[in-house]
Amino acid sequence: VEPRPSDTPPPEAPRRPRLKKTVVILSRKRSLYSTRRMVEAIKQRGHRPLVLDTLRCTMVLAPGQPRMLYRGVDIKGVDVVIPRIGASITGYGLAVVNHFEMMGVPVLNGAGPISQSRDKLRALQLLCRSGLDVPRTVMAHDRSNVRKLVEEVGGLPVIIKLLRGTQGVGVMIAHSLQELQTIVNTFWDLGQEVVLQEFVAESKGRDVRALVVGDKVVGAMRRRAKKGEFRSNIHRGGEGHPVELSPAYIDVAVRAARLLGLEIAGVDMLEGRAGPRLMELNSSPGFEGLEKATGQDIAGAMMDHALAFASARTAAYSRP
Ligand code: ADP
Ligand code: GLU
Repeated sequence: VEPRPSDTPPPEAPRRPRLKKTVVILSRKRSLYSTRRMVEAIKQRGHRPLVLDTLRCTMVLAPGQPRMLYRGVDIKGVDVVIPRIGASITGYGLAVVNHFEMMGVPVLNGAGPISQSRDKLRALQLLCRSGLDVPRTVMAHDRSNVRKLVEEVGGLPVIIKLLRGTQGVGVMIAHSLQELQTIVNTFWDLGQEVVLQEFVAESKGRDVRALVVGDKVVGAMRRRAKKGEFRSNIHRGGEGHPVELSPAYIDVAVRAARLLGLEIAGVDMLEGRAGPRLMELNSSPGFEGLEKATGQDIAGAMMDHALAFASARTAAYSRP
């Protein structure tokens, strides 16, 4: 049977974006709060969520035709990917994200920006170079001049950070030179790199987490450390309270995210005497604390942006 002409669109016709989009969330567990909330938000918008365990994604490298297998089946027709890559699987996770990018699938965040923001020193170098304010920071590997390093960051006490720590686990404070020397020697002996940082005392155990999506802050909270603790991480017992950010804080958070190329970013800032001081950007920000503190629909804001990002990319591809 000859196909009717209307059945065969001319080959040059632009691919019309499907109405129902498939949104992949790369996540180790679908039961995680943020993953569950994103799945809900995708369904609410009439689209199809697909949660893939990053470590079960198999990359097939075939010339000109990168493919992704999941439990032996080809993954096709994905409109956008949202990676939630935990620190423990950074290497494999980044490869999977990269592979989706090579398949031409829009990804937020991309592998480059994720790896850049995950390296604390690299991120601070980039932010500093653009004139954004970060606490004075030094990195060295010379056991003989610790006193000089302390001078560089403005004296004691000094913050010590493991380069690849998360959730406040690798962050310490030293009140004496001797204490500092013991801590850095221990890490160096273990083959771990650390940075020393000025202690921003006026932040008084508080910090600000702003969630940047695209070029907007969609929610913010102030975290307060529990008693006897200087780290305000929720995982360290800190408590989140909603906060109305001033334009200076919003501007810095958005600029920092743009600078590192992050479409979605949890931006952590200390409240310095002269304004925001950037600590770090998280490329897979959990938002349970933020939604509970603010009552805002953070998942919805993230998914709206992801869908718009996917449509813009599709339109750009199909333009003649
Ligand atoms: P992590 O990535 O492990 O959360 P951070 O660099 O964000 O590490 O630090 C954890 C917490 O420690 C911050 O939320 C903040 O409360 C506190 N903190 C970190 N750096 C400083 C600093 N330079 N001065 C004062 N407090 C700090
Ligand atoms: N990702 C965590 C959250 O948004 C923040 C880290 C922490 O405060 O422990 O809940």
